[in-house]
Amino acid sequence: MNRVRLLVFNAALGVLDYRVPEGMPVEPGSVVVAPLGPRQILGIAWEPERLPAEAVDDARLRPLLSVLPVPPLRAELRRLIEWTADYYCAPLSSVARMVLASGGALRGPSTITEYRLTGGAPERMTPQRERAIAALEGEQATLRELSALAGVSEGVLRGLMAQGVLEPVLVDCDRPYPYAAPDHAPPVLSEAQQELAARLVDAVRQARFAPILLDGVTGSGKTEAYFEAVAEALRGGRQVLVLLPEIALTEAFLGRFSGRFGAPPVVWHSSLKSTERRRAWRAIASGEAQVVVGARSALFLPYKRLGLIVVDEAHEVSFKQDEGVRYNARDVAVMRARFEGIPVVLASATPALESLHMAETGTYEKLVLPARYGAAELPRIDLLDLTQEKPEPGRWLAPRLAGELRLRLERGEQSLLFLNRRGYAPLTLCRHCGYRFQCPNCSAWLVEHRLSRRLACHHCGHETRPPETCPECGEADCLVACGPGVERIADEVAEILPEARVALVTSDTLGSPEKAAAFIAQAEGRAIDVIVGTQLVTKGFHFPELTLVGVVDADLGLEGGDLRAAERTYQQVAQVSGRAGRGAKPGEVLIQTRHPDAPVIAALAAGDRDAFYAAETEARRHAGAPPFGRWAAIIVSSEDENEAREAARRIGATRPELPDIAIYGPAPAPMALLRGRYRHRLLINARRSASVQDVIRSWLSALPFPRGVRVSVDIDPYSFV
Ligand code: ADP
Ligand code: ZN
Repeated sequence: MNRVRLLVFNAALGVLDYRVPEGMPVEPGSVVVAPLGPRQILGIAWEPERLPAEAVDDARLRPLLSVLPVPPLRAELRRLIEWTADYYCAPLSSVARMVLASGGALRGPSTITEYRLTGGAPERMTPQRERAIAALEGEQATLRELSALAGVSEGVLRGLMAQGVLEPVLVDCDRPYPYAAPDHAPPVLSEAQQELAARLVDAVRQARFAPILLDGVTGSGKTEAYFEAVAEALRGGRQVLVLLPEIALTEAFLGRFSGRFGAPPVVWHSSLKSTERRRAWRAIASGEAQVVVGARSALFLPYKRLGLIVVDEAHEVSFKQDEGVRYNARDVAVMRARFEGIPVVLASATPALESLHMAETGTYEKLVLPARYGAAELPRIDLLDLTQEKPEPGRWLAPRLAGELRLRLERGEQSLLFLNRRGYAPLTLCRHCGYRFQCPNCSAWLVEHRLSRRLACHHCGHETRPPETCPECGEADCLVACGPGVERIADEVAEILPEARVALVTSDTLGSPEKAAAFIAQAEGRAIDVIVGTQLVTKGFHFPELTLVGVVDADLGLEGGDLRAAERTYQQVAQVSGRAGRGAKPGEVLIQTRHPDAPVIAALAAGDRDAFYAAETEARRHAGAPPFGRWAAIIVSSEDENEAREAARRIGATRPELPDIAIYGPAPAPMALLRGRYRHRLLINARRSASVQDVIRSWLSALPFPRGVRVSVDIDPYSFV
């Protein structure tokens, strides 16, 4: 009798055994449909010896219903799923869910009907029909998409169909992507790039696990160099995955990629339409997708023959996922490369301390591009001590920075002001009674967004209109904005330089790929004089006319100081500085600070990266922090305040006593209330050698928790709130 063990998509059930009906082709990795009571569930066939389950008699097994028309998940991917679940203390099913990320793709081949103009004319022309025909020239899409495109109702389009002006076309949902040609338009590489590219190409040819840190200053031409390795993988018929930290960066990347390879890559991120998602997933699984560029979730897709992984801007904090499976895509990328037996390139101008340490200890190979490409030089960096050079009352830009902005405007050059705070002001209070607007669901102030006229919580999305009167004392016109956000800085620029064209760049204004593309086109077309933005503008962008970068408040990131505050400040300021002077004209950076002597600020001003990293490394060693020791967090939350506290207390009371592990807490989390849930945290600090995961698993699994309590484990945490 043929049995099969399934990993099923229900964390509580986890693993179930079934019978394989005669003739049904099931092998490890097959994606199947199985009965569960009256329902049908999805499962992945797994090696039984790797998944313990309760023994069930043959006689009691129910038969599988069907095998889905997708390739079985390869063993390499199954091992990655196991490793990820094990390392991050997450349910296997939650990790596997990230692999089967498109429901549509699992249903197999399919077609949709699209429509296009035939060239014929309607018997009777109406203004709407005329508009539609003009707008749809050269277009082909579903009726719904065409109606949006033409700005007419679907009824109008159906009328045109009846008259033979529009015709239906049956389209394969899995139609092939344009072909990326390895030798479409290779650049002439500098000597340093050539040498580095040769090593990367060699690593791709060898097709062995090779973790490589590509450490090159901003503008050194890292992308062009690793494109050579991409080309080599394409020549060998192998797939490439390029991970980017943000969707906004993808748009800039697409243009460069098309220029080099003659066709865009396959894109993967959370805002894909479901048809795009299924098409990408199926092409990835069939091996037809040559190069995939995407956000961290692209890491778990079922590539058929991966030949190279690139993690660009590898230091970026957004590679760490902080909900669901709390994994770090940079680290999982290295593991995926290991299971696949391929090279992985971590590219950055400001590598994470952990990555540098791996390079120094010889675990990673380090390749360096020490200078900018071509004639471009790194910008000059100056500090602006706000305690000495004060902005005028009610302003945030010191006179010297304002003067430099004016100078750039007169010269027709671009400037960039960086402040990592969305909205107009981070805090709103009543001048009369001191009332502060706080989120009802979170321990956080509401942030004023003046453009969209709302007060918003950046943690849960709660929003309200700013009231006419204070909700506490009832005074009218008494609300004051405290501190600056980017909107306020943009207002200030408009006041100082009324003729300047100012662009605000935050996740509020650049939330979609279309908006990102529009912004890039405007900036490149010099339709923007001053960019005011959050961390979204710090990396990746290449605007040759941009010659001035102003950091509005370099001290901001150091407040609240978690473990990585100094490192993050260094990375952000160094990255945003790297936007200046990338073309022929030299760049200049002005950093506004109240603490010019703080080590990280001084290191930035001196351009002394090595000194900064050396000092940070010593501090980490002293604290037993990564990469020398390990951190893990346990976060307990509930909508019921007492229940959360009690569960945390119980966890604390049963803490294991171990020589190489220190456990701190429980304590109320800095964000003691988040999205309506009360939160407590425990922090675990262990030696590198300790198996923290095993300790946490056996500790927590012994405890019963009420239904409303959620206990999550964060291995190698980045966020300490
Ligand atoms: P990084 O990724 O290191 O910041 P980029 O790859 O963005 O650097 O390169 C900086 C600029 O130099 C880009 O405009 C890029 O097109 C250009 N560039 C780099 N290498 C070459 C080359 N070999 N030939 C022509 N242009 C290059
Ligand atoms: Zn909130």
